Amino acid sequence: MKQKRKIRPKLGEPQRITKAVTHIHLLEANAGKLAALDTLAPAYLALCQRYVTLFCTDERPNKLRDPLFQTPLSERWHRVAIQQAAGIAQSWRSNRTTTYQQYQDDLLRYQKQQANGTLDAKAKEPQWYEWNVPVLRTPCIQANVNVVKLEPSHDSTYDYWLTISTLEKGQPIQIPVKLTAYHKEHLTDPKTHQAKKLNTSVQLNKRDGVWWLTLSYDEEVAVQTPPDAPVVGIDVGIANFVTTSTGKHYGAFHKDLRARHKRDRAKRRRKAKLRACLRKKGAAILPSTSSRTGQRLIRHVKQEINHAVNQCFAEHEHEGVQFAYEQLSAASMRFKARAQNAYLRASNLAHIPRQIAWNSQKRGVVATPVISAYSSQECSRCHYTDRKNRPDQRTFRCQVCGFEAHADHNASVNLSRRVGDTQLRACRDRTAIKAVLMKRHEAWKQQHGKEYNSPVKRRRRAKSSSATSFI
Ligand SMILES: [Zn+2]
Repeated sequence: MKQKRKIRPKLGEPQRITKAVTHIHLLEANAGKLAALDTLAPAYLALCQRYVTLFCTDERPNKLRDPLFQTPLSERWHRVAIQQAAGIAQSWRSNRTTTYQQYQDDLLRYQKQQANGTLDAKAKEPQWYEWNVPVLRTPCIQANVNVVKLEPSHDSTYDYWLTISTLEKGQPIQIPVKLTAYHKEHLTDPKTHQAKKLNTSVQLNKRDGVWWLTLSYDEEVAVQTPPDAPVVGIDVGIANFVTTSTGKHYGAFHKDLRARHKRDRAKRRRKAKLRACLRKKGAAILPSTSSRTGQRLIRHVKQEINHAVNQCFAEHEHEGVQFAYEQLSAASMRFKARAQNAYLRASNLAHIPRQIAWNSQKRGVVATPVISAYSSQECSRCHYTDRKNRPDQRTFRCQVCGFEAHADHNASVNLSRRVGDTQLRACRDRTAIKAVLMKRHEAWKQQHGKEYNSPVKRRRRAKSSSATSFI
C-alpha cells in the first residue's frame, strides 16, 4: 500500500480551494418549466445508476468512457451522467478497498494470535461482508456548461438565469435564479464589492419535492500559520466530537441525538424483521432498508460536527496556533466506538477529520494528520502505554507514574507531539509503534524514575519498610 505524504504548506503560500454556496431555491416562475426538469431527472438518475453499477463491478471508473446504454437523454447529458457516475464509483471503490485491507490485516492478526496461542477467549474471527453497490435515490445532477448554462441576469428582478437543456431537442428551459441576502453576501467579494467569478459547473438537487441549486467558486487562501506556531492536538470521539490539548471540548452526541438515534434503530429493527419474514415467504420485492429519518439523522449529526469543529477553529485561545489531528483508520474508529458501537454509524466519526481538514484549508491554518495508534493508551507524562491505563471510557490513569486526566485530553496532548515525529512515522505497524513508545518510557524512567514511583512499588516499599521497623 502506498501512502501519500503531504508536504506541509509554507507560510504565505496560496492554496486554491473550491467553496460551495448551497440551498439556492429554484423559483417556480413558470409552472411548466420545472416539469421539464422533473421528467428529465428520473431518466438521468436511471442512466447514472447503470454506469455506477458498471463502474463498481465490471469496469474501472472512467469519466471519458464511450456511451454504452440506451437512453432518451441527449449525448451531452449522457456524458455528464457518465462523468458523475465515475466519480461516485471511484470514491465507493476506494472506501471499499481501505475497509477490505483493514479486514485482511485484522484476519492476519487473528490467525497469528490463534497460531501462537495468544488469542483472547472472547475474540471472534473477523468476517467480511461484501458491500452493496451504491443506490442513487434522490435526484442529484452535477451538470457542466454543456447542459446547464449559468448567466447573469440583465434586469434587476433576478440575479441569474439557468438555461437547462431538456429531453426535447432544441427546447431548453430558462429558469430565473434569485439570491437571498445571505447568498449574495457569500458571492460578493468583500474588497471590490463585485460579484465573485463562479465556476461553470453547477449542481441541481431535488429534495422533499423542491429543486435546489448549488453554485461554487474558487478562492485562493494564503497559509497564515508560521512554521514554529505552537501545536494544539485534537482528539476525536463520540462523547465529545472534539477535545483539544488546551483542555476544551466541543460538540457531543447529546441527549436529543441519542433519543432520535434510538427511535431510528427501533424502526430499522422492525423493518429488518419484516424483510426477513417476507423473504421466508418468498416475496420478490422487499422493502428498502434505507430510511428517511435515518438519513435526516445523519445530516443532523454532520451539522453538529461542523459546528463543533468551527467553534474549535474560531476559539480565541487558538489564534495563531497550528493543529494536529488523528488520521482515523477503520480499526481505530472501531476501537473508539467499541463502547458505544451502536452510535458509530450515526455519529459518522470519519466526518470529523474531513471537517478539520476543510476548516484548516479555508482558514489558511495548518492542520497535520498524525498517527493515532495508542494515542489513547499512552501516558502523556511518562509514555507508558497499556490498555490498563484506561479504567473506563472517560478516565486515563497511568499504571506507572499515576498521572490522571480526562482520557480524551491525555490523548490530544499525545497527538499534539506527533507532528514531525519521524521515528513514529517510520514504524511499519502497531507493534513497532508500541515498541517505540515503550522505549521512550524507559528513557523517561532513567531520567525521572526516582521522582515518580509506581503505585505498586510504593505499596511494596511501604510493606518492606514496615517490616524492617520491627527488626
Ligand atoms: Zn505515566
